[in-house]
Amino acid sequence: MVDNPQKQWSKVLENIKDSVSGSNYKIWFSQTTLDPTSNGTLIVNVPSAFVKDNLLSKYMPILEKSMLEVLGEVPPVDFRVNPAKTNKQEEETIFNAPAHTFNPAMSNLNPKYTMQNFVVGLSNNLAYAASQAVIQNPGTSYNPLFIYGGTGVGKTHLMQAVGNALLEKSPNLKIIYCSSEKYMNDFIESIQNKKTGDFRTKYRTCDLLLVDDIQFISGRDSTQEEFFHTFNELQGKNSQIILTSDRVPSDIQKLEPRLASRFQGGLMVDIQIPDRDTRVAILRAKCQEKRTNVSDEILELIAENIITNARELEGKLMQIIQSHSLLGQELTAESVVKYLGANISVSINKPLSIDSKKVLNGIASYFNLKTSDLTGPRRNKELVNPRQIAMYILYEECGVAFEKIGDILGGRDHTTIMHGVNKLKESQTRDREIQRTLIEVKQHLSTI
Ligand code: ADP
Ligand code: MG
Repeated sequence: MVDNPQKQWSKVLENIKDSVSGSNYKIWFSQTTLDPTSNGTLIVNVPSAFVKDNLLSKYMPILEKSMLEVLGEVPPVDFRVNPAKTNKQEEETIFNAPAHTFNPAMSNLNPKYTMQNFVVGLSNNLAYAASQAVIQNPGTSYNPLFIYGGTGVGKTHLMQAVGNALLEKSPNLKIIYCSSEKYMNDFIESIQNKKTGDFRTKYRTCDLLLVDDIQFISGRDSTQEEFFHTFNELQGKNSQIILTSDRVPSDIQKLEPRLASRFQGGLMVDIQIPDRDTRVAILRAKCQEKRTNVSDEILELIAENIITNARELEGKLMQIIQSHSLLGQELTAESVVKYLGANISVSINKPLSIDSKKVLNGIASYFNLKTSDLTGPRRNKELVNPRQIAMYILYEECGVAFEKIGDILGGRDHTTIMHGVNKLKESQTRDREIQRTLIEVKQHLSTI
């Protein structure tokens, strides 16, 4: 690279901002630095092995494109995990401050929620990476961290896991975990008892404030007013704030605009319903936790048929195990299929039938295309997206293997299918338009 490589690297990064969402940029790129010892090969310092893996597996095309545009060449890149040399703010935070006298029990954290037992997959890896960054660098990386997503997808788990990890690192840390209702009730009670001073001391002096389900603050004017001050005071001294919600701040009705803009001012990440692989991994983890042995075949069967959030998935697994043990039955693929057959309607998204031809016809008709357009060789823009949606639905919803999908789609290679499925999963997490299309396509399929 020509002179002043660091500056050139900044330009490469700047250029990437056009290709990825803001959250993705912050998580995967913003902390990288170019090592001055780079010579020919670019040695890029990254904050963790997790970031390195994701850069390698997903972002190389984007990085290479940007290097080509900015540097006019694509030099080889070597990522080095080196948190000390990455680009974080070097502010002193209260997290380095001397110990408080604080009873950890006050934090209300449930020790069962840990980073270790949080299963990471495409549906939640952004939120997971953001949480890791907060643990490494609380108060300065992303403040507030705003985690949103539907019910049962792991928001509370992840938020508390950050608390538990930080508590492990610094046992005297003052951490408060509460729901927004608890915050409100505490506040109202403090007014009634003329103890607002105590309330303020409690909430405005903690090092880490975790408020779960912040959407319930909607329409509570005086609580919002109070929370605004709590928030500002904590943020002002680099205390970390993490909030969860079932929706983005701009969709929370009757939320003061100044609060909405504060909530959006850090990093917002979402968690989606887990994809098939993550569902299998979650089921496996829950079996391990409960020390129950269930074969992979059966876990995959359940994951393929119950397309829902982690909470419901865990509930279903337990029901299946219990119903079998009540009947003194052994868990076999046949008995599980029978159970699922009788109980399948309870899952929130009905799985589609595995008639792949019908599915393909349905997808083509939704997009006003012919099935042969999807299976054919043409790669026009109008065909690529529907084709990827077909790959995704056949894989995720119908449980068809990559090779088989390749055959169905006119003899495509299984790596092409894998790439297509991953691409769609990726864009689905940040592109509301794709999410909407997927829902509509699935609805369309369920009517044919
Ligand atoms: P939410 O707060 O989003 O409604 P929770 O955090 O309460 O969801 O998660 C519901 C249940 O599912 C909890 O028992 C939690 O431990 C489990 N769970 C959710 N996501 C995961 C995951 N990625 N790995 C392991 N367990 C998970
Ligand atoms: Mg929750």
